[in-house]
Amino acid sequence: MQPAELSAVDLVTAVRQGDLSAVHCTEAFLRRIEALDGSINAFLKVDREGALASAARIDERRRAGGPIGPLAGLPIAVKDALCTANLPTTCGSKMLQGFRPPYDADTVRRLREADAVIVGKTNMDEFAMGGSNENSAFGPVKNPWDLSRAPGGSSGGSAACVAADMAPVAIGSDTGGSIRQPAGLCGITGLKPTYGRVSRRGLVAFASSLDQIGPMARSAADCALVLETIAGHDPGDSTSLCDEVPRYTEMLEQPLTGVRIGRVRDHYAEGLDPEVARGVEEAFAVFTAAGATIHDVELPHAKYGVATYYLIAPCEASSNLARYDGAHYGHRSSQRTGDGFESPLLEMYCRSRAEGFGPEVKRRIMLGTYALSAGYYDAYYAKALKVRRLIRQDYLDAFRHVDLIGGPVSATPAFRLGEKTGDPLAMYLVDLYTVATNLAGVGGISFPCGFTRSGLPVGFQLQGPALAEPLLLRATDRFQRLTDWHLRRPKAIA
Ligand code: GLN
Repeated sequence: MQPAELSAVDLVTAVRQGDLSAVHCTEAFLRRIEALDGSINAFLKVDREGALASAARIDERRRAGGPIGPLAGLPIAVKDALCTANLPTTCGSKMLQGFRPPYDADTVRRLREADAVIVGKTNMDEFAMGGSNENSAFGPVKNPWDLSRAPGGSSGGSAACVAADMAPVAIGSDTGGSIRQPAGLCGITGLKPTYGRVSRRGLVAFASSLDQIGPMARSAADCALVLETIAGHDPGDSTSLCDEVPRYTEMLEQPLTGVRIGRVRDHYAEGLDPEVARGVEEAFAVFTAAGATIHDVELPHAKYGVATYYLIAPCEASSNLARYDGAHYGHRSSQRTGDGFESPLLEMYCRSRAEGFGPEVKRRIMLGTYALSAGYYDAYYAKALKVRRLIRQDYLDAFRHVDLIGGPVSATPAFRLGEKTGDPLAMYLVDLYTVATNLAGVGGISFPCGFTRSGLPVGFQLQGPALAEPLLLRATDRFQRLTDWHLRRPKAIA
């Protein structure tokens, strides 16, 4: 078997047992990246030398009988929103082109300590703002299932590289759906853990009260393996949770008998593609066959999710992105005319930001600054916080009656590149089913539950209460033992 055909769980087992060397495994994925990424554009940086050198060190240590980490030899691609001390970190923006962080993100540090092999940094929407990857300053990513379509976003590079077997696992971040939506549109499995489960230290901040890092892989079992390494308290992020990290990989076996899954009737309103609706219904039937029971639940305020998210996220972004002033780090404009500026310093700030940020990032900064300004704060930002609280309460109420909530990830399968770029509102509506999870601070997972007639993946989403990752992973793993949607590979790039 080729390494690219093995699951992450099988790859680490093969390396541990000496059946596969870390170097051989890394080379196999690097070869695929070389062959395929020219047409997909999932990577902003491939670290060939670094990856092979760390793989060689792992092999050497193993042969000498030394200890090797739980992810020894596993190639992993990391979203370019996570700081890497040895590799440039751009966050998909010209603002950070050429930036080399002084330290590794906590997730990256944990991956290295577990002997994972970081193969490169993946493309993304600029500062993680977007749902199609078309807001990247370095060109869009193509969906491996149909190169004329978007992979989703903002972790589009991470999703596409796993879908095309250019890495068995990738790391993404999810502020309003950026792990789950691209996973759904690319036919892979993506987990957004509970807020605070994974440290945000070294994740370039977008909206700090919503941002969360998580694994994207072929299956729930592979996500469980990686989450075990990256989750846990970090004194460097005061919002990271102190709760002990369960052995997710050992909790997959239990049957689903008696697990109650909620079904939200509002999810089937106008706008839901009939092929997606069918895939989702069939997924509920699989869960029923597995012993789960399905119950109607209501999330009455979820319909305000998009409006609430698109106030809170831009407000936090406008504050977080104030640090890019051209003075400390990031792009600095060299142009000085003096015309119309009060001072050279002000001109430097203005020009640096005008040149460094793309149009969507500027739109969010303006929206957020407006909504936070005196006179509008109460009407917009404070109001949005109140609605957020109601949305969270809806989830708390629903989870008194059910263990999980199931439904679609996105209303449609992957859309065409360029289809929504002229209409920001249409792009924001792509987040209909995903933003409430982040607003409530709970966890969600998405995975393929079927394909359209034209061969595009359809995604299913499960959401769970805070710290229900073991159940989210177990339910998805059970689904994947009963179906084989997650094993299909895109023909175009096979
Ligand atoms: N699509 C959403 C946005 O544009 C979510 C992005 C994310 O989760 N990072 O903000």
